[in-house]
Amino acid sequence: MKTCDALVIGAGMGGLAAAALWAQKGHKVYLVESHYSSGGCAGYFKRREGPYDVGATTLSGLRDGRPVKKVIDKLNLNIDIAQSDPGIVVHMDGNVINMHSDLRELSNEFKNNFSIDCHSTLKKWKRYEDALWKALDVPSNFPYLKFKELLSLFRKDTRVLLFNPQLFFKSFYDFMPKFMRESSDFVRFIDQLLLISTQQTSKTCPAFMGILGLFYPMDTYSISGGMRTLAKTLEKSIKSHGGEIFFKSPCERIVRVQGGYGIYTQKEVFFTKNLISNISPEVFNTLLEGPGFKQNKGKIWGANVAYLNIKAKRPIDNLYHQIHDQEGSLFFSISRPEADSLIQRITVSSHVDVDDYEKRDNHYELNKERFQKRVLAAFNKYLLNENIETVRVESIGTPLTFKHYTGRPKGEVGGLIHHSVFSLFRLMPNKAPSEDIYFVGDYTFPGQGIVSVFQSALNSVKNKSH
Ligand SMILES: Cc1cc2nc3c(=O)[nH]c(=O)nc-3n(C[C@H](O)[C@H](O)[C@H](O)COP(=O)(O)OP(=O)(O)OC[C@H]3O[C@@H](n4cnc5c(N)ncnc54)[C@H](O)[C@@H]3O)c2cc1C
Repeated sequence: MKTCDALVIGAGMGGLAAAALWAQKGHKVYLVESHYSSGGCAGYFKRREGPYDVGATTLSGLRDGRPVKKVIDKLNLNIDIAQSDPGIVVHMDGNVINMHSDLRELSNEFKNNFSIDCHSTLKKWKRYEDALWKALDVPSNFPYLKFKELLSLFRKDTRVLLFNPQLFFKSFYDFMPKFMRESSDFVRFIDQLLLISTQQTSKTCPAFMGILGLFYPMDTYSISGGMRTLAKTLEKSIKSHGGEIFFKSPCERIVRVQGGYGIYTQKEVFFTKNLISNISPEVFNTLLEGPGFKQNKGKIWGANVAYLNIKAKRPIDNLYHQIHDQEGSLFFSISRPEADSLIQRITVSSHVDVDDYEKRDNHYELNKERFQKRVLAAFNKYLLNENIETVRVESIGTPLTFKHYTGRPKGEVGGLIHHSVFSLFRLMPNKAPSEDIYFVGDYTFPGQGIVSVFQSALNSVKNKSH
């Protein structure tokens, strides 16, 4: 039997970051992963033309004090990250809206495209956004706030939130001033943008989530080599601190034993004092013998993804494009140009209902075909230019693909959908109340995206009294 201080189940971005942070603190860490590579929904697959990002493509939360920056600094990770400015280029009804990182430039884009003058509103919202990020960092184990943590929400830099409680009780739509709501085109634009960043549209998205989602493109970064670089760099960090990673080792059973937990994979049995779960709570409960942990998650989105590659005499410089079409929108992420190659790899994603992709029947194949046609039509209309010599479809992914490679029930991805402030309470806390079981990943607080799963990893370390 192998013995360690902390065993992490799942090498998604949440599990990788947690394993690296715990190992850096001096704990003996093991990480077990079902798949033969790491990253999960933010993973990669390799082809002759290079690595494709499976799902997640953008990084955010790199400003000072934000979760990704903190993890990179704490672990001293050496990765080539560049801000994308504009963060996203939106193509809508023949117009191009550049989501600049500078607030004045962003306001001008909104003025030119939607005839709304919103600079002072955006300035105010930006203050809320800064405060929200600071507030997110306060609770080490939401909803089990410590008194000290509650008090620190009254700090100068987060107090603005307490004076604007409507942020937490209104929808983003109702929170917007009337002049914004009156522009149906602006609302349509906001809805599609929020769908990428919050999995919600304005009428159902809580205002505080809407603000975080609206400014997401202002804090958007690409990584040289894509998500593979981030995953590999985290793996290296884990190993450099004495941690070990076991691939193709799905956890099959978890047993509570004296002083810790017994973890069974097909090849090994482990004993650990602390257990860190980076998998869906639903799956975790089926593996755990004895009482489990409840989560009311509601319905979660699935994703269709197309993987393309292009050969171009001149690379496409703006990497992230949202293209509106009849069915909603598609999000195109283009790999960073590489010095020795004319090829760029593209991951295109769109939200779908997981129930439409439950089994591989005729309907499934037709949906895949339709999606491929839709992606190529959008690419040809908005991104194709005279420098592009070839466009090739590598493959199409569906919720069943995500189910197969990440073990997520029905292939659901992207985290819980927030309908109100109360949905935060549906997220798993980062530590079980009376056991040494920690939860990281996008089913846990604070939720969606790499930025949040890194925060959950930071919280797991904060919760452990070292
Ligand atoms: C199409 C798409 C686009 C996205 N775009 C972005 C983006 O641009 N930016 C962003 O920040 N976020 C994005 N996201 C969201 C982001 O990818 C996820 O929120 C995040 O990667 C989730 O990480 P995680 O660690 O919680 O879980 P996962 O990625 O699901 O990782 C869980 C890991 O556990 C493993 N596992 C499961 N069961 C077991 C078991 N029994 N034993 C051992 N291992 C097991 C899985 O194989 C997997 O590796 C996107 C998601 C999708 C699907």
